[in-house]
Amino acid sequence: MSIPFGPGIAQAVYMSDRVYKTIMLGYVIGPLIALVVAVVLLFNSYIFPEDIYLFLVFHTLGMFGVTVGFHRLLTHDGFKTFAPIRAFLILCGCMALEGKPLEWISTHTKHHAHSDHDDDPHSPLAGFWHAHMGWVFHQDSFADPKVYCPHLLEDRVVMFAQRTYFVWPALSFVICYAVGGWSGVLWGGLVRMAFTTHTTWCVNSICHTFGKRDFETTDESRNNWIIGLLALGEGWHNNHHAFPRNAFHGMKWYQFDLSGGLIRTLERMGLIWDVQRVGQTMIDAHKLKGKTMHENIMRLKQELGDYIDQGRQEIDLMMLKLPPAKVATVRHYHEQTMKRLAEIQIHLVKRRNMKRRAIEKRYEEVAKLIEIAKQRMTMVAA
Ligand SMILES: [Zn+2]
Ligand SMILES: [Zn+2]
Repeated sequence: MSIPFGPGIAQAVYMSDRVYKTIMLGYVIGPLIALVVAVVLLFNSYIFPEDIYLFLVFHTLGMFGVTVGFHRLLTHDGFKTFAPIRAFLILCGCMALEGKPLEWISTHTKHHAHSDHDDDPHSPLAGFWHAHMGWVFHQDSFADPKVYCPHLLEDRVVMFAQRTYFVWPALSFVICYAVGGWSGVLWGGLVRMAFTTHTTWCVNSICHTFGKRDFETTDESRNNWIIGLLALGEGWHNNHHAFPRNAFHGMKWYQFDLSGGLIRTLERMGLIWDVQRVGQTMIDAHKLKGKTMHENIMRLKQELGDYIDQGRQEIDLMMLKLPPAKVATVRHYHEQTMKRLAEIQIHLVKRRNMKRRAIEKRYEEVAKLIEIAKQRMTMVAA
């Protein structure tokens, strides 16, 4: 199977799924092996001050490139800035090796559009490890930029970064070698890569599983203070899903948001402007809307649950009325229908937060299942 879009590491050409998965295995495992090697060397005191500096510099640049550049600036249009600063942030984002800008942005936009529903590229509802890093092994996890961020296909800086993507992480490795030799490459290149990618991936996995929900949203997003600290503010993820354009993910004084701090500092220096903020009125309105929305969703879920119960009873009754000789002809189909209806019911019970259109989609599926089952029973009975 060949699919045109994959992460930056493997999307330059159409490639077979096996080749793609092998490359991704190296991409995921390589930095982790480097981390183990680095820890062993660390215990043998084989570490130099330059290694620490290189790690801190490239980890910080890559993280800010992703959090402030790819995420808050390019994906959510959270502020405006001068072209050189914008370009610098984008190239730093490339250096983080989390995928080319277009694929990163389109996949994240798709995540917001379908968060914790069928088309979410990395929902923990499909498995915690899938949400963390398993999703990168599937080429079709990566959304089509033509669909999710077509405006950026015209952006000269983004397209330049897209074309020269591998140059920037390569440059960071070259600098590491020049400054600290192979030990510099280990810490400033590979160990840094392990920290940067896993910290970002924790937002997808941990922040949709563990933490506090300050706002009602139609997904499982959570505010997690540990990831808030590690991911430079991105761990206040429930705040972010409630107000995606807000340039500040930390919304209370104790919600430490280093990326928000950088944005605030640059704004004070006059280097960025049109910074998107959320005032108390918006917060109050969201809380009010969230309460009504949650009540509506609960009502819709209840209605769908009742509809399934009624459908199952009707199908069972029709089955009971069939002549014994004809039961065998529909038994398998009957079991499959009941199994699927039960799965949908379990899903409804498990899911506290759902989007209205996801419930409507399930409603259509249930109606179809019940209708076809009844038709079959009627045909067999005739
Ligand atoms: Zn999310
Ligand atoms: Zn976002």
